[in-house]
Amino acid sequence: MNTQLPSPLRLAIVGGGPGGLTLARTLHLHGIAATVFEQESHALERPQGGTLDLHEESGLLALRQAGLLEAFQAIARYDDQGTRLLDKAGNVLFEDQDAASGDRPEVDRTELRAMLLKALPATCVRWGCTMREVRARHDGRWDLAFDHGNEGPFDLVVGADGAWSKVRPLLSPYRPQYSGLTFVECGIDDVDRSHPTLSQLVGRGKMSVEADCKEIIAQRNGNAHIRAYAIFRVPADWAAGRFDIASPASMRTELLKEFDGFAPEILDLFRVSNDSFAIRLICALPVGHCWAGRRGLTLLGDAAHVMSPFGGDGVNNAMFDAVELARLLAERADWNEAVAEYESLMFARVVESAEGAAEGAATQLSHIGQELALEMYRSHASGTSLLPAPSTAPGSVPVTLQ
Ligand SMILES: Cc1cc2nc3c(=O)[nH]c(=O)nc-3n(C[C@H](O)[C@H](O)[C@H](O)COP(=O)(O)OP(=O)(O)OC[C@H]3O[C@@H](n4cnc5c(N)ncnc54)[C@H](O)[C@@H]3O)c2cc1C
Repeated sequence: MNTQLPSPLRLAIVGGGPGGLTLARTLHLHGIAATVFEQESHALERPQGGTLDLHEESGLLALRQAGLLEAFQAIARYDDQGTRLLDKAGNVLFEDQDAASGDRPEVDRTELRAMLLKALPATCVRWGCTMREVRARHDGRWDLAFDHGNEGPFDLVVGADGAWSKVRPLLSPYRPQYSGLTFVECGIDDVDRSHPTLSQLVGRGKMSVEADCKEIIAQRNGNAHIRAYAIFRVPADWAAGRFDIASPASMRTELLKEFDGFAPEILDLFRVSNDSFAIRLICALPVGHCWAGRRGLTLLGDAAHVMSPFGGDGVNNAMFDAVELARLLAERADWNEAVAEYESLMFARVVESAEGAAEGAATQLSHIGQELALEMYRSHASGTSLLPAPSTAPGSVPVTLQ
């Protein structure tokens, strides 16, 4: 009789974003150990980005399955689900009356990451580990190459390493393509106390203003912080030739120039911003992106299906991918079959989101952009649908940055 137990699956997760950490957490709940390799040196190395709204059928469901719904309630911001649409003169064109009545609570990314980390064993995440390459071994397993040397062997490597994944090239020849939209991002601190007029202008949620084929979206984050995006439809190299990210003063001057003619109270978003600016080129993988299975490798979240943020499904999809993969790995006797099943379900599941996000990006900043946005908000408020956008669950507003 063979009394030898099968050796446990050796599993590496590349990337400690919301997707990778949700996977590690859910595997941990199922008693499956995994190591997360994250390039950042610690959890607070950089601001994690703007506020996210989690959806009942994906992000919140993932948190429920990860046993973290209660912990989430302590950091969720139900009060900040409002929407305002202004014209460039600052007139309010649309405003929903009750910012707290929605079912898509907001959460700050840094808080979300901290919550996920707290729910993991301390040794699970290896910080400061930038994965350079995945290397095939002769025994069919995989090594990961880092600056400090190789780690491995691993039976299964999950690429949760975002839009520019280093795992993806082993599975797919596709790279994210530029959508034509460039975001210049800035932030305003202590807005309620230091800039009360601006605080009111943005309200409890997000405010957008679109004119002259340009747009500003400002979102309330936790701790009285506002994150604002100036959005342009321009060639991919346009921003690099125009903005000097190393000079906050010149960033402000250029943004004020670009939005000349917008009301002064709107332009205050740039005038009083802090010194952290970022330029983001919005890129997406093709709708329906998929690959033929390869033993021991898979992807989740943006690595598998990065899409434009117009639809607000990115993080929700990443977290739901994670709990689905964990569930199947726990339930199936054969981990390789579990991965194959996860992939085929995930490919089909994210198509609607990807279509909605692609449509959202394509219809931003048209010559009738403001009218389109207004119609959209009104139809949402009255419960009728204008667009056949399949990704829009009841309660969501399509073609706006969620
Ligand atoms: C401007 C903007 C606004 C957005 N707004 C929303 C929104 O409102 N709602 C929403 O649902 N989604 C939104 N998204 C999308 C959302 O940010 C992503 O879908 C989500 O973060 C994907 O999670 P992830 O874990 O797959 O990848 P990521 O969050 O990108 O995490 C990847 C992790 O991998 C690490 N990493 C990368 N390369 C390596 C490497 N070689 N070695 C080790 N570690 C590595 C990174 O440091 C990072 O921690 C927005 C995106 C943008 C650009």
